Amino acid sequence: METYLNIKVSSYTYEGIIEQLDKRIATGEQSTIIAVNPEKIIAAQKNDELKTLINESTFQIPDGVGVLLASKLKNGTIRSRVTGVDMMARLLDFAAEKGLPVYFYGAKEEVVTKAISSIKKDRPNLQVAGYDNGYVHDEEKLVERIHTSGARILFVALGSPKQELFIKRNLANLPNVKVFQGVGGSFDVFSG
Ligand code: UDP
Repeated sequence: METYLNIKVSSYTYEGIIEQLDKRIATGEQSTIIAVNPEKIIAAQKNDELKTLINESTFQIPDGVGVLLASKLKNGTIRSRVTGVDMMARLLDFAAEKGLPVYFYGAKEEVVTKAISSIKKDRPNLQVAGYDNGYVHDEEKLVERIHTSGARILFVALGSPKQELFIKRNLANLPNVKVFQGVGGSFDVFSG
């Protein structure tokens, strides 16, 4: 782990994070993944809520080349970029391999359904617990749907910091979900 202007950034590679998540799932711990880039680090300087949101996450992944460059310049421990979309792809592979049901929340209806089709095509064994588009208005019912779906991993694509605030608000309401990732525009990427 490193810190830039008091913001934590994880030094784990994709494999390292999956390994840690595997251990944490085994012990029943919940984990949250947030993507960090220089823009967010700067924004957090004037925004205590964002700062806390980042620093209280389990993994602050170095999305964007800026953080990697800064680490290299100071001979730091960050060895590679860990992008939100690639982290999500690795997590999906892991979920398919381990039989962990996943839930997709966010983006437009057409985007999230297309993303799921494309993800399933590449991972026929993946268990999709459910999905909702990102324009749902009854959060209580939505959270209940996620809770009863059997999901163990939840991807939230509402843009930042909306998605991270949703995760923070509902972490305790979703005790069976063990991994939460705020993925921004990643469903759009998977939907092609
Ligand atoms: N979005 C949503 N509900 C909202 C606002 C945004 O589902 O109320 C979705 C939007 O459709 C898009 C994603 O959130 O799929 C936002 O992606 P963006 O690239 O803006 O996020 P960033 O990666 O920049 O945080």
